[in-house]
Amino acid sequence: MSIYMDNAETKPLSPSVIVDICRNIDNYGNPSGLYQLGYDAKNIIEDARRKVAKAINAEPEQIFFTSGATESNNWVCSMYDYVCAEKYEHHSITNQPNFLDVNEYDNYLGRGYLMGKNILFSRMLVNNEIGFIDDDVLRGVGVPHSDLTQAIGNIPVDVKALNIDYGSFSAHKFHGLKGVGVLYVKDPTSSDFKPYHYGGQQEFNLRAGTENVIGISAMGVAIEEATSHIEQKQAHCKMLRERFLSNLNNYGLDYIVNGENLPHVDSILSISFKNQDSQAMLVQLDMTSICASSGSACNSGDSEPSETLKYLNVPKEYINGTLRFSFSLDNTIDEVDYVCYNINRIIKGGN
Ligand code: PMP
Repeated sequence: MSIYMDNAETKPLSPSVIVDICRNIDNYGNPSGLYQLGYDAKNIIEDARRKVAKAINAEPEQIFFTSGATESNNWVCSMYDYVCAEKYEHHSITNQPNFLDVNEYDNYLGRGYLMGKNILFSRMLVNNEIGFIDDDVLRGVGVPHSDLTQAIGNIPVDVKALNIDYGSFSAHKFHGLKGVGVLYVKDPTSSDFKPYHYGGQQEFNLRAGTENVIGISAMGVAIEEATSHIEQKQAHCKMLRERFLSNLNNYGLDYIVNGENLPHVDSILSISFKNQDSQAMLVQLDMTSICASSGSACNSGDSEPSETLKYLNVPKEYINGTLRFSFSLDNTIDEVDYVCYNINRIIKGGN
């Protein structure tokens, strides 16, 4: 049995999601089929669309099912001449060929290159590495898009209150299946909104391809559940986080908590240990069946410190010793104690 503290990376399926998957496993009808099996599959999808819409205060016709946040981000970026964002956004934004970081944006603007260009401004609502909350998507820069991937199930998300034009997320971050997600579109009738996949008429003729009926249905169940106990979850995570930090203090370890003074979710805890190597620590934690990550696991192949840590000016003697622990309701105090015991053992070089 592993001690799983990498919930920002992905989460296990919840029991009710597993029940839903089992119920649908043999529902093989194609939602485009003009017979009862097809209608049943179509109804399953439309039921999930209503659940997803309700969970984020949207209308069902504003919800487009995709293969996940990466595709949703790619879709929305493909409609604009430039995508402006901070360098610490997810790679599915910053690796876009039309990406401009905010400094490049200012430079281009100053030179008049952006005259007549349509620009998307993208920002994560909850940062994936540190957990800080940033709803400042309306900086007057362009059309606002929010990457909601780390927000759903962690903080209440109301797309109307956020006043965003687009929002992206993935089901596996809130106990659904991998490979399924959403693009929320404020005005799907706008001429700006263009198809991404060409082919059949699925998803209102805008995202072709036979739908992932099981994954979509499971996402509907997962989002209903995840958004119905946010306060309970964050209270539990706050308790785990406080216990974690008090253990580290009792062991007398030298560390900083990244983004501690920013508004943040308690489910993500990013800690930088002085003069440590996070990769070596992860290997040793894994040997005691502990799953955590260094920064964000999306960057786990990188040797460079992450853009988020650079942005926060984490001192150089701490930056390489950064670990991210991300909690769910399933984590316990005993697990936290065991993890901290092992961190102390690894840092102090004991057995
Ligand atoms: N955006 C953010 C903020 C994320 O954390 C992730 C997943 N790490 C993604 C986008 C991409 O999600 P997926 O890999 O499910 O497409």
